[in-house]
Amino acid sequence: MIKELPKLNYAYDDLEPYIDALTMETHYTKHHQAYLDKLTAAIADTSLEDMELEDILMSPNSIGETIRTAVLNNGGGVYNHNFFWSVIGPAEGKTPNGELLAKINELSGSFDAFKEEFTKSALSLFGSGWTWLVQGKDGKLMVMNTQNQATPLTEGYKPLLALDVWEHAYYLKYQNRRADYITNWWNVVNWDNVAKMLA
Ligand code: MN
Repeated sequence: MIKELPKLNYAYDDLEPYIDALTMETHYTKHHQAYLDKLTAAIADTSLEDMELEDILMSPNSIGETIRTAVLNNGGGVYNHNFFWSVIGPAEGKTPNGELLAKINELSGSFDAFKEEFTKSALSLFGSGWTWLVQGKDGKLMVMNTQNQATPLTEGYKPLLALDVWEHAYYLKYQNRRADYITNWWNVVNWDNVAKMLA
């Protein structure tokens, strides 16, 4: 089990003006850290301490009943944010290419149509949660939402891209304007890293 948050590969202000430095710092040092602290407390002195987080999330039945909710909520929070930071970065103006683009075209017809489908899914998410591009066991891509800190891993899907749609991800800069946050967020997606997630 991880004991510390993975270091970010960019500075808090490197995603400006699309995601502001204060949101990045608060999100990473407060929200993300809190999930790790609570996960660490929940699994203290259990065999889960010796397991990889991904393995725990993929086999929820291996978690003792009394701590299962805490482990799934906070473990999901740790995993989802680790993943989120890894697929965003300083804006480079790139778009998907190669196998990733071929699979996106297979899913939605075009990159623009995919962005529209993904955005619509994120806008339709009621309350807090995440919007994902995932790969199924058949290799095909799919857009899905998860509620709160649930992760696609638990449902057997491999995450390729994640968008945090919790208000804490955008409220300081965008207040209630989730659509503006999403429009700007596309600029900081690191498509090279998304492509590396393909099975
Ligand atoms: Mn978050």
